[in-house]
Amino acid sequence: MIEHSEIQPWFFHVEALEGESISHFLGRFRQANELTPSGVGKISGLGGAIARWEKFRFNPYPTQQQFEKLSTATGISVEQLWKMMPPEGVGMQLEPIRLCASCYAELPCHQIQWQFKDTQGCEVHGLRLLSECPNCKARFKPPATWSDSKCHRCFMLFSEMRNRQKRHSFSR
Ligand SMILES: [Zn+2]
Ligand SMILES: [Zn+2]
Repeated sequence: MIEHSEIQPWFFHVEALEGESISHFLGRFRQANELTPSGVGKISGLGGAIARWEKFRFNPYPTQQQFEKLSTATGISVEQLWKMMPPEGVGMQLEPIRLCASCYAELPCHQIQWQFKDTQGCEVHGLRLLSECPNCKARFKPPATWSDSKCHRCFMLFSEMRNRQKRHSFSR
């Protein structure tokens, strides 16, 4: 069943979460609408860019015009979409995908700031970020595929992993 929304009558509207990364948001939007990355590429007119952004590959960097198209397709404002991106001049750590499980337990969402090069840990919890499953050591998949909220290999819940996070003292 397709629910009607004022912005884009033929798609489920998915609200952006606080601090959410573009990869995680695109994944949730796709799930809600049962679309593949190329499906979103088609309906938005953005083609292969969707699959690239889901992997945090921003070379070439997205343009305002592209985000206007994504905004039309998703019903999320262009301004909000930019918030899912690294600010200008902030370097991205593409791999490994990182996680503060304590944050995730409070709000199930991959935060864009976890992938910034300069991010050492979670300042809210004073913990180091996880860069692999603490149980089976598998690397995390791109956040666009995180709908199960657990490790793809051993199925440990992301929220459970908070007990395995180590303290982090910030050098600043
Ligand atoms: Zn945290
Ligand atoms: Zn695992």
